[in-house]
Amino acid sequence: MGPLARSRYFRISVTDCCNMTCAFCHNEGQGPVGKGVAAALDVESIAWVAEIAFDEGFRKFKLTGGEPLIRPDICEVVSALRAVGIQDLSIITNGSLLARMASPLRDAGLGRVNVSLHSLDPYRFQSEFGSGPSLVQKIVTGIDAAISVRNVSMILEQMAARV
Ligand code: SF4
Repeated sequence: MGPLARSRYFRISVTDCCNMTCAFCHNEGQGPVGKGVAAALDVESIAWVAEIAFDEGFRKFKLTGGEPLIRPDICEVVSALRAVGIQDLSIITNGSLLARMASPLRDAGLGRVNVSLHSLDPYRFQSEFGSGPSLVQKIVTGIDAAISVRNVSMILEQMAARV
């Protein structure tokens, strides 16, 4: 699988839970925060799977959910994957917890954050994403924090049709 695997991302879902309830979510982020965390793969198992993929030739890895940052041990996950030898590692997040997590994630060895920003309209957050309007500002603050943390590059994605 060598050359083909090297050009592709290996995605690992580290939890099926999320702190948002977007109407368009295809059942990845449903359920209350914390419910699925205990049942998710532990750090050692994630590292074991990643090591197998790495040995098969994968060089690009993404951590997804649900919302990966709701895992209290997400920095340990990042450190464990870096210890496997993975250089190209990113996290896809809704950004809601990024303000306090940007720096610890950088310190754990994360090189890139991919924020799925669904909208800049506070009221769409309430009507379509199941979150309070204040979450928009929280996410923007998180994006600022990630930008200000050196060595972490940011990718913004607009998931919904309009902002
Ligand atoms: S933020 Fe992402 S994972 Fe969470 S509910 Fe919305 S679409 Fe689903």
